[in-house]
Amino acid sequence: MNLHEYQARAILESYGVPVPQGRVASTPQEAQTIAAGLGGPVVVKAQVLVGGRGKAGGVRIAPDANAAAEAAERILGMRIKGIQVRRVLVGRAADILKELYLGLVIDRSRRQAAVMASSQGGVEIEEIARTMPEKIVRVGIDPFLGLLGYQARELAFGIGLEPYLLREFVALASGLWRAFSETDASLLEVNPLAITPDHHLLALDAKMVLDDNALFRHPDLASLRDTSEEDPREHEARELGLSYVRLNGSIGCIVNGAGLAMATMDVIKLEKAEPANFLDIGGGAQADRVAAALRIVLSDPGVRVVLINIFGGITRCDEVARGIVAALQQTGVSVPLVVRLVGTNEEEGRRILAEAGLVAVSSMREAARQAVSLLQSQAPSAAAEEKEG
Ligand code: GDP
Ligand code: MN
Repeated sequence: MNLHEYQARAILESYGVPVPQGRVASTPQEAQTIAAGLGGPVVVKAQVLVGGRGKAGGVRIAPDANAAAEAAERILGMRIKGIQVRRVLVGRAADILKELYLGLVIDRSRRQAAVMASSQGGVEIEEIARTMPEKIVRVGIDPFLGLLGYQARELAFGIGLEPYLLREFVALASGLWRAFSETDASLLEVNPLAITPDHHLLALDAKMVLDDNALFRHPDLASLRDTSEEDPREHEARELGLSYVRLNGSIGCIVNGAGLAMATMDVIKLEKAEPANFLDIGGGAQADRVAAALRIVLSDPGVRVVLINIFGGITRCDEVARGIVAALQQTGVSVPLVVRLVGTNEEEGRRILAEAGLVAVSSMREAARQAVSLLQSQAPSAAAEEKEG
């Protein structure tokens, strides 16, 4: 789950990380009031769950409250990467001497968290990694020991931080680490971490991603979820306990099991097409869940063919077939459907599908081939889009 900057800032603040004072507004009038309350220049920032707001014009400095209202007026009307801006953060503007980068990530290959720091803040870390990889310093964090003082100092020296900032940097890094580990975050990035002309550090931006699978331990954080920016299909799938992942291709995939999802996407790619999504109905799904899954996948306008790949173990093929038929009766189906069905109660499943005029194939490769050829036989615009995607 992605957090908005203002939400992440509040969390960081509670861990003693210095952040500028500020509040959220959803109208220019509110922005004006907040700015007047803060006094002096403010920065007005779009609150959307995508990066690169600065470049898109979603971050504006305003010298006074009237200018803040104007800036809010402009930003609140914007779309950034397709997302409508509904709220802005109005914060005290900082003077910046230098912009640093400080981020925490999960290093899966080492099975631990890692901190990364760079003297080249304000630029995306991917960009620094590409152009000046030597400017990124990284240390791994032992999950039992946490971020240790000497490691934080190592980072500070590694980015050439002036010694007078060392103590503050170590405290800040340790606050970030505690915020990261105690909220079960998978990403916590402060970019830029500013050095101010009066020689202090200030977190000017905060990007935070929490692990969905740990949210049950944090009911207070779970309530921070902003569903207005979510794909409604993801929302619906989560409510039903299905896992739905949206991708950029044209073939919608319904499978049972995460491993089968990966394999299905692999064979689609092997046939030179791209999956539009995958929806995992899990083990032992009943007909109504299968029907809901099909409804969700079909409601994605990017889907031009649906591939249902079921390997029946606990999941019974006849239940799946009943779900498919029920969904077809409820919503109708606007795109071709390919079904691969093997395993428990396969014959019964095939019989149910046959009655509805559907034929199930038994090999995964064959199913992918059929799906791709059905895709290619559609309007040329579909094929062109597939290439771009
Ligand atoms: P992002 O583009 O979505 O990462 O948004 P940021 O919050 O990182 O802002 C982008 C850039 O705006 C930063 O790199 C800074 O250069 C600038 N900026 C943000 N806040 C302030 C501020 O308080 N004062 C000044 N002078 N610049 C700021
Ligand atoms: Mn930033």
